[in-house]
Amino acid sequence: MAECIFCKIAAGALPAQVVQWDTGLVAIEDRNPQAPTHLLVMPVEHHANLHDVAVDDPALMARLMELAAKLGRERGGDKGFRLVVNTGRDGGQTVDHVHVHVLAGRRMDWPPG
Ligand code: 5GP
Ligand code: ZN
Repeated sequence: MAECIFCKIAAGALPAQVVQWDTGLVAIEDRNPQAPTHLLVMPVEHHANLHDVAVDDPALMARLMELAAKLGRERGGDKGFRLVVNTGRDGGQTVDHVHVHVLAGRRMDWPPG
């Protein structure tokens, strides 16, 4: 996807603070962090959203969630972490390349006060 910013980041064509590469996956620091830890975990290959990757490549989706949970555990420890996958306009998705937000390091109440 020529115009997709996360494809460009995953290809190394746009700079990002990379936390970890895994086979076909990359984790980066969010440029506008909402918590002390705010990572984005995404596949290198373009899939627009969680629904698409679930249908097209469920094994990749499982590995995506596995890496997100592993990083959440590493960062959040016993205190925990939150994974968020915004999907579609009503779901608050602004970048149409599936990514998992990994948030940790502060208490995040739900629903937000
Ligand atoms: P969404 O709203 O699609 O779930 O989340 C998109 C996230 O990507 C936002 O948290 C935003 O701060 C982050 N983001 C958007 N563009 C860039 C970028 O070029 N680099 C990085 N590191 N994060 C980005
Ligand atoms: Zn993409």
